[in-house]
Amino acid sequence: MNETYFQKGFGLKSEVGPVLARTYQSAVVERLKALGYEAGASGLHFKLAREFGFCYGVDRAVDYAYQTRRQFPDRRVFLSGEIIHNPDVNRRIQDMGIRILDHFQDPVERFAEVAAGDVVILPAFGVSVPELAHLKSKQCVLVDTTCGSVLNVWKKVHYYARDGYTVIIHGKHHHEETRATASQALTHAGGQYLCVRDVAETELVCDYIRGNISAEDLMSRFREAASSDFNPALHLQRIGLANQTTMLMSETLKVQETLRRAMVDRHGEAGLESRFRAFDTICSATQERQDAVLEMLDKGGLDMMIVIGGYNSSNTQALARMCAPRVTTYYVDNPQCVTEAGIRHKAVGLSEETTTATWLPPGDVRIGITAGASTPDSVVGETIERILALRGRTAADLTQAADIDHSSPTFAKAAAGK
Ligand code: SF4
Repeated sequence: MNETYFQKGFGLKSEVGPVLARTYQSAVVERLKALGYEAGASGLHFKLAREFGFCYGVDRAVDYAYQTRRQFPDRRVFLSGEIIHNPDVNRRIQDMGIRILDHFQDPVERFAEVAAGDVVILPAFGVSVPELAHLKSKQCVLVDTTCGSVLNVWKKVHYYARDGYTVIIHGKHHHEETRATASQALTHAGGQYLCVRDVAETELVCDYIRGNISAEDLMSRFREAASSDFNPALHLQRIGLANQTTMLMSETLKVQETLRRAMVDRHGEAGLESRFRAFDTICSATQERQDAVLEMLDKGGLDMMIVIGGYNSSNTQALARMCAPRVTTYYVDNPQCVTEAGIRHKAVGLSEETTTATWLPPGDVRIGITAGASTPDSVVGETIERILALRGRTAADLTQAADIDHSSPTFAKAAAGK
């Protein structure tokens, strides 16, 4: 650590801790936890996922942002982009006078306003190698909150690129984390990358590996998602797979197996190791949140799931994708989505919000609740309070008596998406 690059905060945890607790914790959530994660009032039965909301990486990034403001009260403080993908947290950080910079790909354009001596906070998902180099050249103070789990992915990418493997990243190529991860591959001579978003895109890559489509056809689809001089004939001979940390685990396993089979079909089983490597780099926080949702869905008895988190939050999207095929799912990005007139939400796979008026039937309703890794408890708690208010109840009315019958949902697959 030197005086212009900080990775471990400023020793102000005890000062900002009470502020963070007041801002982001929730008495309602604490009460639900104390009641065994299941409680109800007036026929509304809530079941909270065992793991949800803020992960260790987000906790740390938000803590450092608050510490940074205290450490540099008189300096201009910027965030190189949204600190995390949650509108409530980003608004509060802007309210402290921290400017969130616009999302230009070109670092010169993105950091045009930043001058020597300014403070720039780097988010939990990291920044690309050119962005970091550009900021360092500007002689500003950098507060790097890149999560340890993201650094772990970068380490794997370096191993692949160093050993001559093209890095295949299962992730969204425009996502900050994936762009940062991809840039790590290019720090090695001859380093290359290609991003696949899902199994369908992976199948296209496999079609090329098996000789079923041309290089032109492949690159017409992946031009934006691959290194600039990517040549399929050269760069799909030896491949190493890594993931954006927040992808859906079940999909990641399918991507891995799909690529492995294609490499076997093309080159044979013998010597596969010299052509194909794979590490699951989904972070433990993402995994725990997905496991908790899976457990709830497998137990059954829910009439609906409410998934809370930013619409651009990759890990929240993954939770909603798990729930939607199995139970009526409402993906909401803030508590104000719950109103007397209905629930405003985004259906999985659609880009527009929609409002469902008839989402809460009279009588007993069993509601599962989860939230992405960038959603604070305060947002989860307020959402629950607004639902309770629709029946004239408050969190104080919640009792343990709400025993969820796991066998018979009364309102399954109602009117989501209408
Ligand atoms: S979701 Fe995972 S990788 Fe991202 S900040 Fe949280 S713990 Fe780190």
